[in-house]
Amino acid sequence: MNLMNKFLLFFPKYLIKLFLIVSFVGIPSFSFSENELGVSTFMYHRFGEDRYPTTSVTKDQFQSHIKYIIENNIDVISLEKIISKLGNNEKFNDKSIAFSVDDAYLSFFEYAWPIFKKYKIPVTLFVSTDIIDSNTAGYMNWSQIKQFIDEGGSIGQHTSTHLHMPLNSKKFVKEDILNSHRSFIKNIGFVPKLFAYPYGETSLAIIELLKDLNISHAFGQHSGVISSYENHYYLPRFSLNKNFGTSDRFEFAVNSFPLQIDQFSPEDMFLKNNKRPLIELTLVDDLNNNELNCYSNPGGNWNSQEIIKISPLKFQIKLEEDFLSGRGKLNCTSKIDDKWHWFGYQFLVK
Ligand SMILES: [Zn+2]
Repeated sequence: MNLMNKFLLFFPKYLIKLFLIVSFVGIPSFSFSENELGVSTFMYHRFGEDRYPTTSVTKDQFQSHIKYIIENNIDVISLEKIISKLGNNEKFNDKSIAFSVDDAYLSFFEYAWPIFKKYKIPVTLFVSTDIIDSNTAGYMNWSQIKQFIDEGGSIGQHTSTHLHMPLNSKKFVKEDILNSHRSFIKNIGFVPKLFAYPYGETSLAIIELLKDLNISHAFGQHSGVISSYENHYYLPRFSLNKNFGTSDRFEFAVNSFPLQIDQFSPEDMFLKNNKRPLIELTLVDDLNNNELNCYSNPGGNWNSQEIIKISPLKFQIKLEEDFLSGRGKLNCTSKIDDKWHWFGYQFLVK
């Protein structure tokens, strides 16, 4: 299945049209989840590097995102504010969005940062230190990273070697993270508080390690809208690239809301033995007979999956095939009071 079909599976045209109609006729009174509207958090990599469509947005796409949030007065908050609210057990009652950029490509510094800066839009840059230490072409260098910080930018950790964390021993990953801390201290004088997993991949063992290292929150790269019910060590971010960075898709994600999950199993996002787990999720709020739809990519194809309702709040998702090795993804949505609510998850499959 090509990427456009994948896009349409996530964002069928009727769904985008419905969203556009809803936004013109106004929003009906909102009763679901006590008005917790959540934060749609975005992740970019490269800007205007059209040779890399899976990691780059075009300059036109990026400009359309910024134009949309400026013209519509969308509230953009920092990732620091997200983790501070989570840490204080606060609700996300106001609808807002947040921006992050991974890997510190030069195209961020040269093209996108001046635009973020001009409009005073907060953005966090997640940096893997080795590639910067070795002055690699196409990446920022430490003096540019320092300039970014001096000009108001926020920095986050992204390991030193950008490794697949769950596939390595805890000891090895620990040393990798500590190496990145040494580089941060040497080059910018502090260790950033924020953390993002390379490839969005983690496991319960890796989460335990982060706790040992006093890292309190971590971001993945699965779709979803952050609410107070989020796993602090698996915060979702919508990925933006050429195929998933169109203005329709961006605006749909900006205007999506959390689908709050109380319990989710399997508990470990790293599937070592079972390639076809029985997925169970328990919602915080009754969907009031609104439909739940879940899409996933077992066998390498994105399809709607069979859902069994166990109780008003509890659902089972039966995957139609085994997950292939690599990243297995799940996206569940429900349309409630004309608003789209979204929950996403990513497994790493051995
Ligand atoms: Zn990365």
